[in-house]
Amino acid sequence: MISDLLKRTKTTLSFEVSPPKTEDEFQAVFGKLEALAAPQPNFISCTYSAGGTNAGKTVELASYIQHHLHTDVIAHMTCVGFKQSDLQKNCTLLEKEGIRYVMALRGDRPQTMKDEQFNSREFFYASDMICYLKANTSLHIAGACYPEKHYEAASFESDLIHLKEKVEAGASFLVTQLFFENDTFYRFQERVADMGITVPVCAGIMPITNVKQIGKSMNLAGSSVPKELENMIIAYGENKEDMRKAGVDYAVRQILDLKEHGVDGIHIYTMNRPKTTAEIVAQI
Ligand code: FAD
Repeated sequence: MISDLLKRTKTTLSFEVSPPKTEDEFQAVFGKLEALAAPQPNFISCTYSAGGTNAGKTVELASYIQHHLHTDVIAHMTCVGFKQSDLQKNCTLLEKEGIRYVMALRGDRPQTMKDEQFNSREFFYASDMICYLKANTSLHIAGACYPEKHYEAASFESDLIHLKEKVEAGASFLVTQLFFENDTFYRFQERVADMGITVPVCAGIMPITNVKQIGKSMNLAGSSVPKELENMIIAYGENKEDMRKAGVDYAVRQILDLKEHGVDGIHIYTMNRPKTTAEIVAQI
């Protein structure tokens, strides 16, 4: 089980990948995945996009990772876009495909979805979905957590209380939102421990390799951008290759420090980029 592996391995290495949006890109992704999996991560997680045209592709991609790349895979599922009957169908499919892990998420409101529809979802919070999964499936469950607090949470304390509920409902390990300052993560680890949350926590690292990524990812993730990263973008932003190399270097330094601090796992948000991911792995 991944949760046991996280407990007995000093620092695991895992990747996040996403189903591409178009059919052409989707066909091309299998080759990319092969290259991505070459450094033999301990597991790969595969995102789900409720509003996207690729919503149905998560299981297909996850199945390829499990059976062709022989790597344990976590299929993401969101409360948004999943009725109870859809969730049960999806879980049956996952179990049939031999996929043992899901990441249970609430999801965000897709731009095309009205507030009314978003607010009438059958599973309201990730913990509601986790309760259902525990009672009705044999899947092992991961959950998300936020070193800088979730953007909607009234306070850090309330976010941590709900995180604890998520773990008590059955999430056996957690993966963090991306962050750029390790001290933020170390403070979060302390607060998580103070709450009595003892499941392993993987640190989510996203290499920033182009300027556009920063606005888009940060808006969604609510992660703050430290001065050093800001300066890096000012210095290299105009030059694609220099920017990519600087982004790799920043992620490598972050990861080496996290490893030195004995974190449970490093989870790289790969953005489906094998070259950048391989360069990072080679240096850590
Ligand atoms: P929840 O745990 O449900 O929390 C959402 C908010 O509600 C928080 O503010 C929390 O404090 C609050 N809350 C929780 N329980 C309660 C309660 N009982 N009462 C009141 N408030 C409560 N999105 C996708 O669409 N697809 C993906 O594949 C995807 N993968 C992700 C992977 C990781 C590792 C992370 C960190 C995020 C991912 N996301 C993904 C984004 C995620 O869906 C959003 O961040 C979403 O806004 C919150 O999801 P959650 O599961 O953390 O929500």
